[in-house]
Amino acid sequence: MSNDRCLFCRISSGDISAKKVYEDDQVVAFHDINPQAPTHVLVIPRKHIASLDALTEADVATVGTLVTRTAALARELHLENDGYRIVANNGEAAGQTVFHIHFHLLGGRNFGWPPG
Ligand code: AMP
Ligand code: ZN
Repeated sequence: MSNDRCLFCRISSGDISAKKVYEDDQVVAFHDINPQAPTHVLVIPRKHIASLDALTEADVATVGTLVTRTAALARELHLENDGYRIVANNGEAAGQTVFHIHFHLLGGRNFGWPPG
């Protein structure tokens, strides 16, 4: 369920500190240490899943909760009117550096398309 060598599992357990903005029994959200927008929060499931590519049908409820809680958090942070972006990098070539699934919740500025 959790991996004690995984940075985000250790943040989830409280073993490593982070600026948490939300947590419940399934999900934890905390400020990114290297923010790319005025609001840049990472939202993770407590369950260790290495990447999008590792998802199985058994994870449908976990991912549904993750997306729904991320959207609720965006509303709580008042990002919904000006728009926000949710990003999930899958694999090193796409920019994934931490292999515990997470959504970047980004807001507070305009975003270009296509993304870099
Ligand atoms: P990714 O590169 O998509 O895997 O995203 C990983 C994110 O984790 C990056 O945006 C990092 O800045 C962020 N990060 C790395 N270490 C920490 C930490 N200790 N606390 C908060 N965010 C972190
Ligand atoms: Zn993990």
